[in-house]
Amino acid sequence: MEKYGFNLQELRSKKEKLESLVYSTDLTDDEAEDILNLITMYDSVLDNFVHSDDEIRDEMSKESLLSDFKDFVTYDDYNDEHIIVRNKLCLLLSKLVSRKNSYSFDELNLTDSEAVELVGDMIKSKLGMNHYNIYKSLFLNDKSHVQFSNSISSALLVIPNTKESFAIIHDHPDIAKASDLAHEAGHLFSSKISSSYMLPNSILDEVESIFYELLFIDFLLEEKIYPEDSKNLFSELITSSIQRAYILNVEFSYPMYKLNSIRDFKTMANKYDLYNITGIFNSKDLLEWINIYNDENPFMYVYSFLIALELYDQYKINRNKKSVVSKYEKFISQVGTIPDFKLASCISRDYVGFDRFKTLRKYRSKFIKE
Ligand SMILES: [Zn+2]
Repeated sequence: MEKYGFNLQELRSKKEKLESLVYSTDLTDDEAEDILNLITMYDSVLDNFVHSDDEIRDEMSKESLLSDFKDFVTYDDYNDEHIIVRNKLCLLLSKLVSRKNSYSFDELNLTDSEAVELVGDMIKSKLGMNHYNIYKSLFLNDKSHVQFSNSISSALLVIPNTKESFAIIHDHPDIAKASDLAHEAGHLFSSKISSSYMLPNSILDEVESIFYELLFIDFLLEEKIYPEDSKNLFSELITSSIQRAYILNVEFSYPMYKLNSIRDFKTMANKYDLYNITGIFNSKDLLEWINIYNDENPFMYVYSFLIALELYDQYKINRNKKSVVSKYEKFISQVGTIPDFKLASCISRDYVGFDRFKTLRKYRSKFIKE
């Protein structure tokens, strides 16, 4: 049985080691970036330990905090070399890859301006004029701020000095084109209401965008626009998050840097029952999929997704939608300024004991009715 856990001392020294590594000269840019990502993660965990106020600290006894993170940080087995996981996987991958699309959505031939307007309609009806005006001033009044391209993944770029924003949206042939735009619109809103420009530095940085995305799906379902596709979007979001959570688990409990061949990979995948869990039965596809998710920082995504789902749940239940939207606004304006745990527990006291899989499944059965 593998042992999990960490203490403050060890976490600190691990982080220091990583920091000193960043300055070594023989790292490639990608390796340095990987390490910086890890440092961010350690920071976040440390932050929660050190800065929680007494009330929060009492509520989440050290035990429960440990149990919350035990799957993420394993120091017994941990080796700094696990940073090279991605490189190893890339290497294996380059010998194999065949890209497959797991989505099955109808081709909609949605034009760029139809997508922009559809998201605008959602924002107006679900979030109100304050949100809509920001969206409108950028994406509806001036077309130069949004670009559709199929050679790049969707992103929001904010120029630090001027705070000018540009959205690049992957030009999917299907509804994902609009849901990506809704996602980036959430980042846009957040960047406009935050007082200072900040680089992403919290595991809750995706709440702002995923909440928009969820409301977009909700809007489509209510208005009966592409109903089948909207249901699939929702299932896909939740299923892929559950899969991400599993990968996250495996990544921190298996010394993946030891993988040298596809046979090693298959042994590992079988040990963790990854084929059944992910529903991906081809090793090449599974490997590629893990690689893609590694790139997307699953740690941040899974936690943010849980909080966004909780907010969405409250939005659905509460008759006073405005109050939930205000709660969301307050929340995203505080991300990065106070410790993640403290902030997350404002949305759900449950968060302290969030069991990722259990909670995700709970939401899945709640929101996805077959
Ligand atoms: Zn995002």
